[in-house]
Amino acid sequence: MECPKCGSGDCNVLDSRSKKVGQRKRRYICNQCLGKFETVEVRTDDIKEIISGEWIAEMQRHYRTMRQIEREYLLRSEQLLK
Ligand SMILES: [Zn+2]
Repeated sequence: MECPKCGSGDCNVLDSRSKKVGQRKRRYICNQCLGKFETVEVRTDDIKEIISGEWIAEMQRHYRTMRQIEREYLLRSEQLLK
């Protein structure tokens, strides 16, 4: 596995567990920059199903949260400028 922070291939698995049927989550630590990252392993047969349902719902939730944070941030910075 390649570290997303420094690109090193020298990474160790910290933790590996089943998330749901057909999904496996792995936590890695990079031996170069000591950065931690996670991957989710999914069976290719299941990808279609995940993308069409669960994944879209999750992305929409993330998007809403991001918009909320953005709005709050803007409100606060407006108050600070007054
Ligand atoms: Zn790294």
